[in-house]
Amino acid sequence: MGLAGKVACQVGIHSWQRWRYREFGNCTKVRDCRRCGTIDSHTRFEHSPSEWAYIANSGECTMIQLCSNCSAVIDHRVEHSWAEWVYESDRSCVRKQVCSRCGEPQSRNDHESWTKWEFTSPDSCDQSRKCTRCGYTDSRSAPHNPGIWEYEAPNSCDQVRFCLRCRHRETRYAMSERDHDNWTEWRPVHAGDCGWQSRSCSRCGKKEMRQRPPRHEWSEYEPVSATTERRRCRHCGAEESRKVGNRR
Ligand SMILES: [Zn+2]
Ligand SMILES: [Zn+2]
Ligand SMILES: [Zn+2]
Ligand SMILES: [Zn+2]
Ligand SMILES: [Zn+2]
Ligand SMILES: [Zn+2]
Ligand SMILES: [Zn+2]
Repeated sequence: MGLAGKVACQVGIHSWQRWRYREFGNCTKVRDCRRCGTIDSHTRFEHSPSEWAYIANSGECTMIQLCSNCSAVIDHRVEHSWAEWVYESDRSCVRKQVCSRCGEPQSRNDHESWTKWEFTSPDSCDQSRKCTRCGYTDSRSAPHNPGIWEYEAPNSCDQVRFCLRCRHRETRYAMSERDHDNWTEWRPVHAGDCGWQSRSCSRCGKKEMRQRPPRHEWSEYEPVSATTERRRCRHCGAEESRKVGNRR
């Protein structure tokens, strides 16, 4: 052993070999230092799985996996040896099969050959089909075939449409301002105040308000007397006047 290795082992830095079973029949593993032969105080527990196998002479379908070192059962599962599926009769879709090992039966009832989907009536969106072997009937709802959106009434912005086949009705309620396309101009609510404005939908009458920083749109000043001029806001009618000097 080199000096460096000896010093390393003295301060606890060993050079470990691979994990090995401490003894046969016990799955605790240990490891040794290849330089000084110390055995690590930490251990590890690890089975050695063997091949999956049926329990001998049991006639059952449970398979187990044993540890080849300690013989413990590590895992188990059931695996049958199923024979072919056989139909119960010519007019039935029920099929059976039996496990050739343990005799356990199982059955299923599924249909493989269908007629085409057909509407149940000319004014219905329901469809059905039949199993060609046993006659079992399956049904579903086909998607509707909607016509165009139309206003529900002359004074409403809600729209409706109907399925062209079954007359199923859908409604699209006017929720947002975009759903009303007949807005009037924004107009001041109060005379003399450009801040609060309102507009309404000329179809359904829905009203909307908004508040704006007041911003009048003034006309030119016009004389009202020898010393006074006045201007008006084109929107709200607010008035302002000012004194003017003698212009003569
Ligand atoms: Zn060592
Ligand atoms: Zn074991
Ligand atoms: Zn079985
Ligand atoms: Zn069937
Ligand atoms: Zn429909
Ligand atoms: Zn409207
Ligand atoms: Zn104004």
